[in-house]
Amino acid sequence: MTRPTVVRRKSRQVRIGHVPIGGDAPIVVQSMTNTDTADVEATARQVRELADAGSELVRVTVNGSEAAAAVPRIRERLDRAGCAVPLIGDFHYNGHKLLAEHPACAELLAKYRINPGNVGRGAKRDEQFATMIEAACRYGKPVRIGVNWGSLDQALLARMMDENAGRAAPSAAGEVMRQALIASALESAERAEALGLPRERVVLSCKVSGVQDLIAVYRELAARCDYPLHLGLTEAGMGSKGIVASAAAMGVLLQEGIGDTIRISLTPEPGGARTREVVVAQELLQTMGLRSFAPMVTACPGCGRTTSTTFQELAATIQGFLRARMPRWRTEFPGVEEMHVAVMGCVVNGPGESKLANIGISLPGSGERPVAPVYVDGVKTVTLRGDTIAADFQRIVEEYVRTTYGRGGHTAAPPQAVSSDAVA
Ligand code: SF4
Repeated sequence: MTRPTVVRRKSRQVRIGHVPIGGDAPIVVQSMTNTDTADVEATARQVRELADAGSELVRVTVNGSEAAAAVPRIRERLDRAGCAVPLIGDFHYNGHKLLAEHPACAELLAKYRINPGNVGRGAKRDEQFATMIEAACRYGKPVRIGVNWGSLDQALLARMMDENAGRAAPSAAGEVMRQALIASALESAERAEALGLPRERVVLSCKVSGVQDLIAVYRELAARCDYPLHLGLTEAGMGSKGIVASAAAMGVLLQEGIGDTIRISLTPEPGGARTREVVVAQELLQTMGLRSFAPMVTACPGCGRTTSTTFQELAATIQGFLRARMPRWRTEFPGVEEMHVAVMGCVVNGPGESKLANIGISLPGSGERPVAPVYVDGVKTVTLRGDTIAADFQRIVEEYVRTTYGRGGHTAAPPQAVSSDAVA
């Protein structure tokens, strides 16, 4: 069965360090640290965690002199650890001073994010924006013109509101606000180009916090320019609300081919991992069939046939195991990210799904014999039982990955006995 494909909007390609975005490049996942950038050790550690989780670009706030001075030391630590992820600097109000006073920071960042609403006030605004663009020209850096509805250029908004009020049939305030966001991004990009920044070094974003607003803004932005677009729902929120809202908004846009790089702005749960936003971004792209990052686990929801939480635990264990292995597998076993694993809760309906996966297991349901048949590439190979089902199944997965995606390609016979408890 051929899969429907998404036709992507044509955009110019921009290189962020060694990572291309836009053009024919895959949609890039990015994220942002929430450490104090001046804390070199904590920030370098979190950048590595985000990069290991799969973030292809990482942004850090550069909010003061100490943060700017820390950037070269963070870069050095990352390089020493073999972590080449490009760092992006997020600048507000004092960015013009920081880039001038910290040339090493300006040189080592791979991109500058400039929010045209937070560059400066009054007459200083244009001058400070120009200073930052001149730094980007001098150091050969790309820039993201990152407009945010919470910090929209108030002078521009007031001007557009006045013009709207003078019309015979004025638009609603929300529509004027959306038009002002788009105008801020496009006018700032035009000004950056007039100051000498090549068009191939401009990325745009227009973030808002409402799903319908985001869709409307990006549809129009996409139609009016060919800059690569950074997608993100700002202040998406915490937990399932943040995930659902981001996926709802970005899913529609990505399906229409809009978006060259994405960030999911999740508020971490207390004590939660920052890397969650990277995993969610990857899962959004992978479930839409736009990219593959890590093997996917299909698990049934469970029902009255399920006797225990065993299958939920196994699904969670396998998902965690696959993710934990990916930093190493990504280089050792190219193609493993396409693997599909099924963990099902009963042997009545489970085998059907298992046969469609590369590897599938069906755990015993209510009233069923305490055995778990395993299917490899659609063929039943072994039946597991006893207390070691999870560990045995993990070994089967590991062996499958080694033989299927190792340098020699698929050379293995289906996995055989995995423990003394396994029965054919
Ligand atoms: S696979 Fe079995 S346990 Fe899972 S939802 Fe379907 S019938 Fe229920």
